[in-house]
Amino acid sequence: MARLVFFDLDGTLADRQSALSDAVTDLCSSRRLPQAADQWLRIQLADRATANDFARLRDAFGLEASAADLWQEYVDLMAAAVTCRPEVLEGLARLRAAAWTIGVITNGAGDIQRAKLAGTGLADLVDGVAASGDLEIRKPDRRIFELGATRCGVSLADGGWMVGDNPTGDIGGGHQVGLRTIWLRGRPWPDELPTAHHVVDDVTDAITILLNETE
Ligand SMILES: [Mg+2]
Repeated sequence: MARLVFFDLDGTLADRQSALSDAVTDLCSSRRLPQAADQWLRIQLADRATANDFARLRDAFGLEASAADLWQEYVDLMAAAVTCRPEVLEGLARLRAAAWTIGVITNGAGDIQRAKLAGTGLADLVDGVAASGDLEIRKPDRRIFELGATRCGVSLADGGWMVGDNPTGDIGGGHQVGLRTIWLRGRPWPDELPTAHHVVDDVTDAITILLNETE
């Protein structure tokens, strides 16, 4: 099997939830938004954020700033707030040293996901990135996995691994394209979905499994 692994980003390599909370607080402070807008943003952006959410924010609260400006400020705040734990960065560096190809396949807008990869230091450790906003297709659609492989300069036909926290998108999607899978436990597991090859509580445990594969 090829030494190829794709990781999900939000909730797998990076902690989106704490970054979201900080970014919303900072945006509301910077733009002097009312408490109701703070609450609205936390609900609307709970799963993902797009530029269109900020057009809706502008309309909902009668803001003068352009949607594009609000979105850009949010992207910058998220990029500054999001973190990847040092042990995860070290684990990825060890995989690279062991000749693994590392890709990121993420559901989200391309600009914000790339800003987060740069802000966390992950960008220097990955060979290719596929964001759903690039093609308007989302995991588990097989085409986003194919895009990830293309961006990494590899073929899915040679096999590899998918690591993620979303049962349907990451694990179901990975199986669909013939990848072996490691599920980062947390959400309920849908009854109808085939089980992942491995289940872990921490992404560093997934990296350890992959490193052992090479021996
Ligand atoms: Mg995720």
